[in-house]
Order: sequence, then structure tokens, then C-alpha cells
Amino acid sequence: MTRAFDMLVIGAGPAGLCAALRLNQLGHHVLLVERSQRWPRPQIGEALTPGVRNIIDYLDANEALESVPILAGKPARVRWASEAVETVAHDGAVVERAAFDAALLRLVLARGVEVLRPASLTQVDGTPGAWRVQIVTPDGLRNAEAHVLLDARGRQSRREPQRLHAPRLSTVWAETAMEPLAPHADFATRVEALGDGWMWGAALPGGRYRVMFTFDPSTRDDAPEREPESVLRNACARSALFQSMAGLPWCGPPRMCVSTPYVDTLSWQDGRIKLGDAAFALDPISSSGVEKAMRFSLQAAIAINTWCRASDASERELAQRFYESRLVESAARHFAWSAGYYGQAWCAESPFWRRRSTPALTPGTAAMSSLGDDAAARVDIMTRALRAELAHASSIRPLPNEPVPPLPLHSPIRFARATGIVVMPCATGDRVTAHPALQHPSLDHPVAFWNGVALFPLLDMLTRATHPLELIAFLCRSMEAAKARQLLEWLWSKRVVEPAVFGANTCPTS
Ligand SMILES: Cc1cc2nc3c(=O)[nH]c(=O)nc-3n(C[C@H](O)[C@H](O)[C@H](O)COP(=O)(O)OP(=O)(O)OC[C@H]3O[C@@H](n4cnc5c(N)ncnc54)[C@H](O)[C@@H]3O)c2cc1C
Repeated sequence: MTRAFDMLVIGAGPAGLCAALRLNQLGHHVLLVERSQRWPRPQIGEALTPGVRNIIDYLDANEALESVPILAGKPARVRWASEAVETVAHDGAVVERAAFDAALLRLVLARGVEVLRPASLTQVDGTPGAWRVQIVTPDGLRNAEAHVLLDARGRQSRREPQRLHAPRLSTVWAETAMEPLAPHADFATRVEALGDGWMWGAALPGGRYRVMFTFDPSTRDDAPEREPESVLRNACARSALFQSMAGLPWCGPPRMCVSTPYVDTLSWQDGRIKLGDAAFALDPISSSGVEKAMRFSLQAAIAINTWCRASDASERELAQRFYESRLVESAARHFAWSAGYYGQAWCAESPFWRRRSTPALTPGTAAMSSLGDDAAARVDIMTRALRAELAHASSIRPLPNEPVPPLPLHSPIRFARATGIVVMPCATGDRVTAHPALQHPSLDHPVAFWNGVALFPLLDMLTRATHPLELIAFLCRSMEAAKARQLLEWLWSKRVVEPAVFGANTCPTS
């Protein structure tokens, strides 16, 4: 028997689980397939950035996650910008990842998503919008149909010609038991730059301490010490913060994985859409992979919802553009941020750090010839968009820290010369719609909404000299006067508007 679904999500990590929850909430019939035999299955990536909390709230998943072991409020000891050790407050949390993913999977089931585990796809055919898949389960083969296939399989080591990579990285890690009274027992999170890589350590729920070393594997290809055990021990012995752990027994053999950041330029193709690490994998330095995977899934769910319910081809194209613009912006910003962070290390002049402090995305070694012409053209467009966004993100400088004069309420203002207007796809409610947005060097990206307020009603008025009081009176038709004034003050503080000097300002470019 063939079962029909709207969505087939492959992979029950944070990306797949989040997409399943959101698409189910939007009324789609979802099937989730997870291959792990063992469940809850162990997973790296336990440190959660504070933004995960908002996503959990948004998904109404707090109750479901109540039982997940969590450690929060531990300070961090950091040796990064200088060789001296600093202690800083740390507002993230460390969870038991296996329990976190398992609790979300229980919620997915409780909300009505169908789940097959352990299960994996053996065959995919059909056409975009009408996929037919064969799924192997312990009870035999199942057949299913789905409009959209969502690939949330996580980091994939298979080489894909369409991937762009940052310089190579590998990570080795192990855990040691924390003896509360032992001299090395310091439950603080530790982050340390070494000449040839960086170390990270954190207490995990359950009395273990994770030690991790991230390095360039190409410098060790011929080195005598390249076994995970000796790489990790050696790094601990050379470090200031982890030295006391160099001789401790590990709870199990150290494990090693590829951690090179990458972005897949063909993440949206013919109703096959990638989420989370399958679309782009971050440098572990940010400890924000889980948040990024979940946030991107929420944005992708809106694009997918729009694509499925679109009334015409232009709306479908808008949905894809929205997804791709989020992917380009999120990936490029992260690559730029990581490069900036590598550049701050006390040892930033050594080769490991120099290579990583200049943001660059390079194609892998897999042959592009295996892609068809259309796919190759798409790769080219996305590559150019990613490189442009990377250059833009790397050039963003904060506004000079000069005091901003108060907004002149009694003399006219208008858009500054550098302000432009672009039309871009935005998420409004459950759908992607096109909106005019403001562009200005002081804005990180084009802005169509300010605190949930669409800016477009103002655009026409601000292309000509207008008195702020007149603008506030106009805005008061849809918001309170105080909020209207705050909006104008925000535009003013960002230098998006300026005093109207007759004959000097020009209209914004679109
Ligand atoms: C060394 C290292 C340290 C990290 N540390 C952190 C950290 O501290 N904090 C943080 O936020 N992030 C961290 N990350 C990143 C984080 O782990 C990932 O970004 C996050 O897990 C991505 O979620 P995901 O759902 O995309 O993929 P995953 O979490 O990898 O989930 C993918 C799921 O798909 C399943 N699957 C795979 N193939 C198939 C298949 N063929 N069929 C069915 N199911 C399949 C897998 O079993 C898995 O359950 C780290 C990453 C690395 C490499």
C-alpha cells in the first residue's frame, strides 16, 4: 500500500524535528524518517546559544523539554584575545543532546506527525511535487508519496560538486569523569586558542567533562601523531586551561570528525529541499549550529508552505528566493563572523589562524561535470551571491560612536542620499510576500519591517521633504504616537533620513 503525505522529512535532528513541528502546525501531513537504530542516539553539539530558548517558546515546546538534563549559568574561562586567562559570564546552556532530540521527537509524535524509525529511504523516483519513495524498516518495505522531500540528514561527508568550503577542519573529542573534589574539577566552560587550533571544554549533564580540539587535518596528514588519542592528549599538554586533564582517563576512546564549514549551493532543487547542516554547516567555534539549524528550518517551513500553496509560478519563485536569500545571508554572515573571531586570537599570525581569518569560500574537488547545465548555472548564481554577501558582511563596520543629534521635529526630513529601496521576499505570517525594503550602509541588510511594522507606507512620504510631525500624524492611524516617534527616531539614528536641504537630496534609488 502506498501512503500519501505532503512532506517527507529525512532526519530527526533539530532541523528535521523543527521543520516537522512547524509544517504540521501549518496543516501539512508530515512523515518523518530517522535511520538511527539506537534512540535516543548520541550527538555532538550540546552547548546551546540563548536564541534556542526563543525558538522553543515559539514552538510551544517548553513543557516537552522540561525533563531534558541541562546545565546553565556556568562561567567561561577564555584564553583567546591574549595569552592571559579571562573569566567571563556565559549565558548559554549545555544540554544532554540525545535527550533534547528525543524529547522533541516525542513532541512531534504527540502533535500528529507520523514517524518511522529506524528507517531509511532506498529508492526515490517520480517528479517534483509527486515523489515516490521506498522506505526500508525492520517490518519490511514501505511505499510513500510526498509533494516535497526535506533532507535534514545533517553533516554529510559525501563530496558534492556544488559545495563551497571554508578551510579544512577536524575535531577530536573525549570526556572525562568529573570528580567534584579533584584538583582539576572546575566546571567552567573553557575556550582556548593554541598555535595550531583551538580547544573547547564544558561540563555535561551527568558528571562528565567534554574536551574538544579543532585543528587543520592537512597539517597532520604525514605527522607521526595523528591518532585521535595522541592528538587530543598532545593538545591538552600544550594548553594552559586543559593541562590538568592531559593525563586523566577518558570515559571512552576519543572520537574524531570532519568539521569543515560548508554551504550547499543547490539546497533547493525541484521540490527537494535541504535543512540544517545538510544545507550549510557552521564552524563549531560559534557553538550555534543547533540554533542555526532550528531557525533556518522555521524560515524554510514558511518558504515551503508558500511554495505548496502558491497560486502561480511567480509566487513559487518568490518562495524559493526567500529560502535562498536566508541561506545566503545566514551562511555568509556566519563565515564572516568566524573569520573575524579567528582574527582576534593572540596567535592570529600563525598559519592556522591566518588562513581562517580571511573569509573565503572555495569549491571542493568533486567534478562539476556531473551536474546538468541548469544546475551548474544555479551553482554559479548562488556562488556569486554568497561571495557578494560574504564581502558585504566582512565590510560591515559599526556606525561611528558619535552622539546623534535629536530628531528635528519642526523641520522637514527625507531619505538620505545613500538610502535605497529594494523589493525583497519577506515572511509575513505563514507566507512569503514581496515587500519594498530600505537599504542603507548603516543597515546590515534591507529592512522592510521595524518591530513588526511594515515600512512601506512611509516610503512615498520620505522621498520628499516632510515634517516629522506630519509623519507621526500619518503613522498614528495604525499605531500609537509614541511608537511612531520611536520609528522615526530609529530611522534618524541610522542616518536613513536626514534634514531636507532643498535641492540637495535626491530620491532613493530602487
Ligand atoms: C565538532 C562539533 C561540535 C559542535 N558543537 C556544537 C555546539 O556546541 N553547539 C551547537 O549548537 N552546535 C554544535 N555543533 C553543530 C551541531 O551539532 C549541528 O549544527 C546540529 O546538530 C545540526 O542539526 P541537524 O538537524 O541539521 O543535523 P543532525 O543533528 O546531524 O541530525 C541529522 C539526523 O539525520 C539522521 N540521518 C542521517 N542520515 C539519514 C538517512 N539517510 N536517513 C534517515 N535519517 C538520517 C541522523 O541520524 C540524525 O538524527 C557542532 C558540530 C561539530 C562538528
